[in-house]
Amino acid sequence: MKSKIRVGILGATGAVGQKFVEVLAGHPWFEVTALVASDRSAEKPYRDVVNWIGSGPIPADIAGQTVVSAAANLDCDVLFSGLDAAVAGELESRYAAAGHAVISNARNHRMRDDVPLLIPEVNSGHTALLHRQRGGGYIVTNPNCSTVGLVCVLKPLVDAFGVEAVQVTTLQALSGAGYPGVPALDALGNVVPFIRGEEEKLQTEPLKILGTLSGGRVVPYEMTISAQCTRVPVLEGHLECISVKLAQPADVDAVREALRSFGNPLADLDLPGAPETLLHVFDEPHFPQPRRHAGMSNGMTVSVGRVRPCEVLDVKLVALVHNTLRGAAGGAVLNAELLVRQGLLKPRQAVASS
Ligand code: NAP
Repeated sequence: MKSKIRVGILGATGAVGQKFVEVLAGHPWFEVTALVASDRSAEKPYRDVVNWIGSGPIPADIAGQTVVSAAANLDCDVLFSGLDAAVAGELESRYAAAGHAVISNARNHRMRDDVPLLIPEVNSGHTALLHRQRGGGYIVTNPNCSTVGLVCVLKPLVDAFGVEAVQVTTLQALSGAGYPGVPALDALGNVVPFIRGEEEKLQTEPLKILGTLSGGRVVPYEMTISAQCTRVPVLEGHLECISVKLAQPADVDAVREALRSFGNPLADLDLPGAPETLLHVFDEPHFPQPRRHAGMSNGMTVSVGRVRPCEVLDVKLVALVHNTLRGAAGGAVLNAELLVRQGLLKPRQAVASS
């Protein structure tokens, strides 16, 4: 690429925003040129307003950048959004109308008919929906972090056997609630059996992502999902206990083989952020574990284990997804890389966001 694509991070001081800073450091195609946060943080150097929770120091080229408010004009080609859902809906629409490509982690626009809910290895063709958006720019969304883990596991099973029903129980990490998130007195030595809005997302988003394009729309995949979501005292990595009813009979070896052989369907695109294989299947009965395996392949591989017969449905297994990487910032950057390869995202002239 001759010149790098200029990137803005919306919500740059938040938990997801900080992951964007880390994932984009040294990226071969993208360069961060704008950091956007609330008026509380605006007009100050990033290092002075961020409560940095990254694993290393703030990248040197970012630390001294001045944070701007959402009212500023942004000289960027693409905006990655880690905005709080309370403000994301309106701000992301405004930026898209002003000509920006917006790639969002917030829930607000996910289920719109004209907005792709994208996991590149699963439904790269859904970017065709962008042609239905009116305005200078567009919005692409990332699924909910637990949805990402579930769909990555279901995709090979849908392709090979079809899926009729799913029962999923999640054990979700604290970082999924942002910073400071769940109070220590609720989180430590405890499990909280409720995450507001989460089960609804897990029961609806997969149907859109696994749906097929027809006449410029997504026809949702037909299956029933029952979800229960819990918050557990783990830092990073959502574990999901999943049982599946298949449409065609298959033994456990065939299911394991379908998962193992899925590979990377976009390998020929050579996307910088894509893992070698989307799924890693463990044979060891005590794997995957969040602390040991959430970070595999820079947090972009979804790991699977304990594939075995289910006494109620057909097959059951355990999946693990890194919630702030594959489930948020890393997934969003991979979406942008796909858009570049599809010719939908290019460096361009500065635009004004009013
Ligand atoms: P967070 O830590 O609370 O960060 C929110 C960010 O939004 C901060 O940078 C904040 O800036 C900014 N902000 C708030 N009001 C604003 C305004 N009016 N104008 C501009 N910026 C404003 O939240 P998070 O955990 O990073 O989550 C961000 C989004 O990603 C949410 O929609 C969440 O649901 C979604 N998500 C999170 C995860 C996860 O694992 N954490 C995974 C997937 C999706 P200030 O610091 O200046 O207040």
